[in-house]
Amino acid sequence: MMEKTALAKQGIRSNDTGRPAYDLVIIGAGISGLSTGLMWLKNTQGKKTLIVEKNPYPGGYVTAYERNGYVFETTQLFPDIVNILDYLGLEVPLKPFPGTFMRRLVVHGNGVTEYRIPAGVENFTVYLCEQFPGDAAKIRKLMAYSVEMFAQVRKLKALPTLGDMLTTPFAAPKVVANLNRTYAGLLDRFRITDDRLREVLETFSSFSGVPSARASAILTAGAMLSSMARCYRPYGFFDTFPAAMARRFQELGGEIRLRAEVERIVVENGRVAGVRVKGDEPVIRAERVVTTVDPMVAMRRLVGEEHLPPKYLDRLKGIVMSPSSLNVALGLDDGIDLARLDLDYPYNVVSTGRGTTERLFDAFLEGGNAFSPECFHMAVICPSLTTGAKNTVTLRGVPFGIGDWLSWRQKDPGRYQAEKERWAEFFIGIAEKYFIPDLSRHIVVKDIATPATYARYSGSPTGSIYDMAALVTQFGPKRLPMKTPVANLYQPKFAHGLYGGMMNGVQVVDLMLDRAFNGGNSLFNPQGRPAA
Ligand SMILES: Cc1cc2nc3c(=O)[nH]c(=O)nc-3n(C[C@H](O)[C@H](O)[C@H](O)COP(=O)(O)OP(=O)(O)OC[C@H]3O[C@@H](n4cnc5c(N)ncnc54)[C@H](O)[C@@H]3O)c2cc1C
Repeated sequence: MMEKTALAKQGIRSNDTGRPAYDLVIIGAGISGLSTGLMWLKNTQGKKTLIVEKNPYPGGYVTAYERNGYVFETTQLFPDIVNILDYLGLEVPLKPFPGTFMRRLVVHGNGVTEYRIPAGVENFTVYLCEQFPGDAAKIRKLMAYSVEMFAQVRKLKALPTLGDMLTTPFAAPKVVANLNRTYAGLLDRFRITDDRLREVLETFSSFSGVPSARASAILTAGAMLSSMARCYRPYGFFDTFPAAMARRFQELGGEIRLRAEVERIVVENGRVAGVRVKGDEPVIRAERVVTTVDPMVAMRRLVGEEHLPPKYLDRLKGIVMSPSSLNVALGLDDGIDLARLDLDYPYNVVSTGRGTTERLFDAFLEGGNAFSPECFHMAVICPSLTTGAKNTVTLRGVPFGIGDWLSWRQKDPGRYQAEKERWAEFFIGIAEKYFIPDLSRHIVVKDIATPATYARYSGSPTGSIYDMAALVTQFGPKRLPMKTPVANLYQPKFAHGLYGGMMNGVQVVDLMLDRAFNGGNSLFNPQGRPAA
């Protein structure tokens, strides 16, 4: 039987040989870095490949950690990437969620409306039609259109050639038509005006902490369809996933160097030459480098602005990174029976009504947050209902800006602690009111992650949890290109999330292999396999 606090990530050790030069160096052992390494080694033979990671274990934002005998996790939902796991030979026992995908509560003044969003697009469509019979025809049209649009994304090329660009309007007309459309714009197009219906649908743009009037329609529809089509979580702790990836990568001959922070991406004559790790003298030389870290850090600090053309620098300066979060992880005593509380779903979400995400996002852009008893958006997750470990609950508030969190932590620990406690009490109060009566009486361990925690852990100075924000103005051709201005330095930024991270690996390896692996396709579709 599994030791209930054993963390898989701790079983992964550095195995680098210290060779002076590699064919490929990857910066970061999160899902993007591990996917890149795995796809690359699966499609090349004998290539010397190194992943350099600053933390003591792989996984990046996909992790689990132990506090006083309780195990907490960051991530909660595994989208439909089972075919990629099979392809890579990864065995991660997964628990499916075939019934309810999300319990969604919306608070209007003193009233609460509860929706039970079912898994599966067909089920969701039927459910919405039942809830909003007057809009049934519009709902069916919107959902059918979204499915077709997402299917057409499969026809897109990650880095289109001129020939691709000429054929795209015929192969993917719905994608082309919606490249600049926001999710709110898509709902308008289908004349969905009922406030309550929009509230439910906009759940999927607020997934990324972005209001629907700024979120990309294609990305939001993609996030909705890829996560709810078939959704899972590991039976074990979430770190079993990156640990399995790291182990497989090492089995394929890949090397991982942990506790090694890249402080410089070395450029010689406009071409990448390697990386320098903090505390090391010699540069680790590399034919190619893939960076999966915060693009502001990678390009402006690690490469250096002197190596970048002014146009690219301007583009970088205009980028909005995604928000951060405040997370309250709670270990509870045995006196509470979580199984009876109807919480065993990937997400339980409660928020105030329409306009909430807009207000929260605007405050985040100002560097702060607008959470208050009248304006909030919070997720409640219960991992222990699956893992069988001691009772845990996670409360997550998004979006939070980095604000003063870093300076409080560095210069005023008393204030930092007080702010943490204040926000923890705020979120615990909401959870208690809407999901878990008497929650505070059962708390044994409380672990609070702030934007400063995310900044330290990920290396992103803004503590961004979803990389570049999923804004329509940063989508598709307007996103940073995978090819950087430095020759042989690549930066895959297709999208965030486990699905997005794995597609980062797919796209960049395909690019480095001149399309021999995935035919240039933007989504996973290895050559010789029919499109899913
Ligand atoms: C709280 C939370 C909950 C989430 N829930 C979900 C979910 O349920 N489902 C889902 O699909 N997605 C979820 N996400 C998003 C998802 O976890 C991320 O989008 C994804 O894991 C990002 O992977 P990545 O490899 O691109 O980046 P990261 O995970 O950030 O990995 C980058 C790695 O680079 C390392 N690094 C940084 N700088 C350096 C340096 N200079 N030198 C060496 N190494 C460096 C970091 O330590 C890190 O390990 C969640 C994210 C968070 C934070």
